[in-house]
Amino acid sequence: LPAWTAPIPRQRVTAKGSNVPDPIESFRELRDRYHISSHFLSNLAQNGYKEPTGIQAHGIPILMEGRNLAAISPTGTGKTLAYLLPIMSLLGAPASSSKLDTRSGVRALVLAPTRELAHQIHNECLKLAQGRKWRIILFSKATANALNDQNVRDSVDIIISTPLRLVAAMQSGVIGLENVRHVVLDEADRMLDTEFLDQVQEVIAGCSREGVQKAVFSATLPSGAEKIAMDMMKHPIRVVVGLKDT
Ligand code: ADP
Ligand code: MG
Repeated sequence: LPAWTAPIPRQRVTAKGSNVPDPIESFRELRDRYHISSHFLSNLAQNGYKEPTGIQAHGIPILMEGRNLAAISPTGTGKTLAYLLPIMSLLGAPASSSKLDTRSGVRALVLAPTRELAHQIHNECLKLAQGRKWRIILFSKATANALNDQNVRDSVDIIISTPLRLVAAMQSGVIGLENVRHVVLDEADRMLDTEFLDQVQEVIAGCSREGVQKAVFSATLPSGAEKIAMDMMKHPIRVVVGLKDT
């Protein structure tokens, strides 16, 4: 069985940090606690997401409260939704549909080590986006070209990319990250290893907005990578999910 079908009590979760928010027991709780739009909740239900997994139960409140997070949870436990749901909720509405003047460049960024992974994250993002005109860009040569249009560029909500491609776009001035409010490193053990570290740090440095929320998610995080992650975040919370032996 995939890991997420295990009931939550089977997952041993430890959370370290100051003022760690309580976990949720159901997705429904998010409406009362954080006023998460019922639109997202019905998208979850429609896609067969009934109960939060351990990393979702603990991670979603932490991110909803604006905290920085290092999350370690085994493969298949739903880490993608654990960051996408809070990020999209905190963004509120697609920039393109907003009456407010939020049309000022990409607002959230997810970095992954491979195109294949970025593609999977994009698919997960589209489930939450159903029924609204979110502009979510799976970064590639073609989508990078579309960003030459200032109108497109200014109403991007979320970019999902590998590091090298994004660094190239930053350097050529196609994209600016100064309005990014949320940045996630997925598969952080690889993102913070030597192959990607310089590029990742360049991207993080480009996210210059004050108070940008940072999160790293991984199935494992070796101590070297963990130290880099914790050092790049202010007052981070660290959550570790271990699957108990059955
Ligand atoms: P991870 O990143 O931890 O390896 P994923 O985010 O890729 O895990 O999710 C694994 C699978 O579980 C995906 O197919 C996803 O759609 C599904 N999934 C995630 N959360 C839930 C949930 N709460 N209920 C049912 N399925 C879920
Ligand atoms: Mg994953």
